[in-house]
Amino acid sequence: TQTPPETNDPTVERTLVLVKPDGVRRGLSGEVLRRVEAKGYTLVAVELLDATPGLLAEHYAEHVGKEFYQPLVDFMMSGPILAVAIEGQRVVEGFRSLAGATDGTLASPGTIRGDFARSWGSKVMQNIVHGSDSPESAAREIALWFPKL
Ligand code: GDP
Ligand code: MG
Repeated sequence: TQTPPETNDPTVERTLVLVKPDGVRRGLSGEVLRRVEAKGYTLVAVELLDATPGLLAEHYAEHVGKEFYQPLVDFMMSGPILAVAIEGQRVVEGFRSLAGATDGTLASPGTIRGDFARSWGSKVMQNIVHGSDSPESAAREIALWFPKL
């Protein structure tokens, strides 16, 4: 067990985790939540939902216009997504570390992608989870997926 962080601790952050449609389809939602909780992060909000083109255009603003953008959107709309906001000390980097590298072939064993994803090339989008890449991205993405938070 870990000492709970002080509420005024500036290293306490929030980040957005998405269990992507492949993860939900494969029954890995619980496994992702288990790893998040086992690490000691706190669940702030959880919702199963279907993404819309507008939400994805905002979420993936940095990728709009790239050649893989439409396949990525089609994939992200292929089934429900489990959106999860989590909190903890340095959780933005911490969850990226739990998730592992984007390419499932290269992601290290012990990471979510390394343990459960094999996808690469044109199927690299099938990599189980999303995690925000900075505290600024996290704030923006949490506001998109959890407007009431
Ligand atoms: P992440 O931060 O590790 O999720 O990776 P990126 O921000 O670079 O890309 C966002 C997501 O788009 C990735 O998780 C993949 O699902 C997908 N993606 C990234 N690069 C490619 C690509 O070259 N081709 C395809 N088809 N999908 C990609
Ligand atoms: Mg990214």
